[in-house]
Amino acid sequence: MAEAADTPLPTHGGAFSAAADERPKRNVWPALRRGFAGRCPCCGKGALLRSYLKVCDRCAVCGTELFHQRADDAPPYVTVLVVGHSVGALMLLTEEVAPNLPILYHALIWPSLTLVLCLALLPAFKGALVGYQWALRMHGFDTEAPDCS
Ligand SMILES: [Zn+2]
Repeated sequence: MAEAADTPLPTHGGAFSAAADERPKRNVWPALRRGFAGRCPCCGKGALLRSYLKVCDRCAVCGTELFHQRADDAPPYVTVLVVGHSVGALMLLTEEVAPNLPILYHALIWPSLTLVLCLALLPAFKGALVGYQWALRMHGFDTEAPDCS
């Protein structure tokens, strides 16, 4: 039982490495902002996405490997969470402000707004999540290569 307390804890990548704790911490907020803006989380200059949702393999400016990302279903989940709550709140607010708004307006406004917001925010949330994974050295982002500034 005493041996379990001495066992090293796994890192984000699942590997047992004492060296992982000695590497400098990456700042999460700039990485999130850069990713949200569609820029490389490391340098903030190179493009993160090569098409609507495809992540570049490497940053063209600093060479940071970006193919390690595992965003999976998180970007659509976050998009639905944010857009659903925002549009839902706007619908309720509209009922308070303009209770006699014709149903045709509701049928035109809310689905259109939801579609536009989802299409606009999905790549941004994907970029932010890739930046978050990079900042926390998740998956393969825990390389020994020095970070750009
Ligand atoms: Zn870069």
